[in-house]
Amino acid sequence: MDRQCHCGSWMRLELRTILAGKVQILHVPMRACEACSAYHLFPPVKSVLTNYVRDLGKESSKSKSKRSFTEVNEISQIIYDVFMQETCDSSSVDMENAMKAAINDRINLLLDLFQHAESIQDRIWIEDLRQRLSQLSSLLVELDRDKVHSHE
Ligand SMILES: [Zn+2]
Repeated sequence: MDRQCHCGSWMRLELRTILAGKVQILHVPMRACEACSAYHLFPPVKSVLTNYVRDLGKESSKSKSKRSFTEVNEISQIIYDVFMQETCDSSSVDMENAMKAAINDRINLLLDLFQHAESIQDRIWIEDLRQRLSQLSSLLVELDRDKVHSHE
């Protein structure tokens, strides 16, 4: 889950607040380096965040100025839940295992809902579930990619 920074230190996964226009978006997954303060967006959330920021731009200025990314993003919700459950000194391996267990639980739940949505032919719900499932599978790919790197 941790990735090496260009400075040689390890970057840790964190949830940060970003500013999109006047709106504060809480709980955005980022990788950050404590040694050189470099940080970048966690790759599996990029496309969802881009769409979210674009949609926020279309809303009226009266809308809430503070939002949690966990409302629209499966990945940040899972990271948030795992961070809440695990203690600060949990190892990276513990965190990764907890994350994978949480992802698999979530996928099973969404698949149940998906079957139900299909049985009642609710197209909007089906599409929403399809997108959530694809977010989760991109997260699994990202975690496995890190594993390959750490064995190099
Ligand atoms: Zn660094």
